[in-house]
Amino acid sequence: MINLRQVVAITTILVLSFILFILPALTDSIFIKILVFISVLALLYQYSIDPSDSSTKIDRLLDGVGNTPKINNVNKDLKENYDSLLELVFNMIISMNPDYKCATYMLSPNADALVLQKSTSNDFPEQIVKDNPLILKIINIDNSSLIQQNEEKNAWIDLFGDKSWRGSECMMGIRLKYNNHVGGCLLLMVDHFKTVNDRDKNILSYLGKYLSMGISKLQRIEKLLGDKDFRIRISKLFNQLNITSKEDKLLDEVKTLCRAFLRYDKLTITFPKRNSSTAKVKMIDGFSEDSKLGDIIEIDNTLHGLPYKLGKIINSSNWTEKYSVKGRFIQGDIQQYNFNSILSIPIRNYNNNILGAISIERLEEFVFSNKDIQFLELLADTMGSILTWKNEYSKMYKSAIHDGLTDLLNHKAYKERLAEELSRAKRFKQSLVLLILDLDKFKRINDTYGHLYGDYVLSEVSKILKDSVRNIDICARYGGEEFAIVLVNTDVENAQPAAERIIEKISEFHFNKDGVEERIAISAGMSEYPKHSIEMKELIAHADLAMYEVKKNGGNAVIAHGDY
Ligand code: GH3
Ligand code: MG
Ligand code: MG
Repeated sequence: MINLRQVVAITTILVLSFILFILPALTDSIFIKILVFISVLALLYQYSIDPSDSSTKIDRLLDGVGNTPKINNVNKDLKENYDSLLELVFNMIISMNPDYKCATYMLSPNADALVLQKSTSNDFPEQIVKDNPLILKIINIDNSSLIQQNEEKNAWIDLFGDKSWRGSECMMGIRLKYNNHVGGCLLLMVDHFKTVNDRDKNILSYLGKYLSMGISKLQRIEKLLGDKDFRIRISKLFNQLNITSKEDKLLDEVKTLCRAFLRYDKLTITFPKRNSSTAKVKMIDGFSEDSKLGDIIEIDNTLHGLPYKLGKIINSSNWTEKYSVKGRFIQGDIQQYNFNSILSIPIRNYNNNILGAISIERLEEFVFSNKDIQFLELLADTMGSILTWKNEYSKMYKSAIHDGLTDLLNHKAYKERLAEELSRAKRFKQSLVLLILDLDKFKRINDTYGHLYGDYVLSEVSKILKDSVRNIDICARYGGEEFAIVLVNTDVENAQPAAERIIEKISEFHFNKDGVEERIAISAGMSEYPKHSIEMKELIAHADLAMYEVKKNGGNAVIAHGDY
């Protein structure tokens, strides 16, 4: 398809040629001939290198193999944004379980194969044929699918090659969509089927939807890239608005962008207050007599409440006539200031819920241009994704680093926190104590009353542990019925009574579920930094050995490394 720019270029060339060849009288001067000739060459040259050439399709933009010719700055920024999005998604997956390997695939431009975009392991092939039954299973449904190697041996080998598979491997996948079509998938592989749980499946479903939203946004943005002015605006937008920005910084960056690209007398950003019909002013720029940072505005019957109330863009050069509201920020404040024009856009999350509103106002009667509207919309859209990501990410991250049954830190998060605490102890020249605990004869509980009763015991024990330590201490589920505690800024002498109290509390606790009463004991081993070792691995091994020493002597006690 020929676009407007191409039409202009061709027309100009024709006009110049007409001047050059058909009107020789005018162009007798060699100087004019050379000038016209150079103009034609310059035009042709500019046309041939113009980066807004329509070949920058989203498939290519997202194509990690790097066959995009001449990536211009905007595409580079978009790509970096997309890459950091993938990186965050992968980090989240690995936080849930460090054994997870993940990859994203996008459909190739001719839609016959899925091309690898990014992965954390070499196990994933560069390309997958689209009709592989495992992939079809994933891309045909909206939620995540779980596939086991030993149930789909042939298709699995077609996909990952013929290696010595154990049979316990499994793969989870979620489709990625753009423009309402399947555009690719997010895959996750793990060696042991047993380590996958429902929470991980749900998080994966969410991550797939989140990525799809990000991709759709990129596609919408790409449509605007043909316009040079917009290329500059968008490039700036993506340079400044970062998915990892803190809320205050994000708002500041939005203000800077609005200042650079929009003309207004007042900029206002509001976020709604939970369970009330009010919103809070989170950012203002320009005129500040009428409302200031931190003010509470009314949503009912006010101009600034309209984007919330109507759920759509408010755009008017004479709003007092267009909308029958009783105030701008609160009812009754209409007559104080003579603002006539407003452009106000709701900020939404991926579920279409309104997270806030961004508005620019002018005193004069002013008709906002389509570019103003598109820019503010894009800004609102990007803010919406970043705010959604922030809220959801912290929620999901919290869930990903905690154990689903006991809500204690999981093994991986525990190791990370322990490493942090060790380096802090080193910096401040403090000691710390590591405790490893293992329930005595726990298997008997499972065997006698079943797994559910066993789970109940594990979660009660976790509560006791958590309640027995200070907030600054770390409490984790180390494995099945093993726990680990880090007591910071203390030594074994001081930790001994605290540890004994924990052992005693557990052995005295009356577990009771569905009328079944039981008692259980626990054994613990301790080691101290830096007294017993300065190495994390060694400290864990020392505490572990001490714990086994206790078990050898009948359990239900605690002992420190070297005290036996
Ligand atoms: P010991 O005194 O030597 O520690 O004996 P034990 O029975 O506690 O230890 P063993 O390692 O033989 O058994 C641990 C049991 O913990 C086996 C396993 O089924 C059970 N277990 C591990 N994780 C879970 C879980 O999440 N829920 C339940 N109900 N049981 C679990
Ligand atoms: Mg054990
Ligand atoms: Mg045990």
